[in-house]
Amino acid sequence: MDIRIGQGYDVHALAEGLRLVLCGVEIEHTKGCVAHSDGDVAIHALCDALLGALALGDIGKLFPDTDPKYKGIDSTKLLQIVLNLVRDKGYDISNLDITIAMQRPKLRPYIDQMRECLAGVLEIEVDRVSVKATTTERLGFEGREEGVSATAVALLIKD
Ligand code: MG
Repeated sequence: MDIRIGQGYDVHALAEGLRLVLCGVEIEHTKGCVAHSDGDVAIHALCDALLGALALGDIGKLFPDTDPKYKGIDSTKLLQIVLNLVRDKGYDISNLDITIAMQRPKLRPYIDQMRECLAGVLEIEVDRVSVKATTTERLGFEGREEGVSATAVALLIKD
């Protein structure tokens, strides 16, 4: 059995009046991520973890933010494309673990919906998908509510 691990990290600035979408779920908030796509920082970190596990580069290489075809794109669509690359290489997802760092709002009420959304897109069981959220105790750019960051780890297996 061949086992691969990958990690991803992403950051987006927050601005008033934009949509906030995390793990494919729309979050009620006054601010959203500034981005070329829908700004789903958690899915972007996850895409980089999946790509990293197979040394396929990164999301910026695959989906350049200078390309108008990705303007405002739903990041679950990017994730689907990345999933196809994983499958093309003959790998399955064993499990995923994502951490979102954001001071406000509390993300706990959305966590299960986020897990279900990702599991649905990736066609895996929900118990293979972990999504966690943390504040940064008001420290740093996340704590000042200037931005949101996400890290992700993915384990892939090939029988
Ligand atoms: Mg991004």
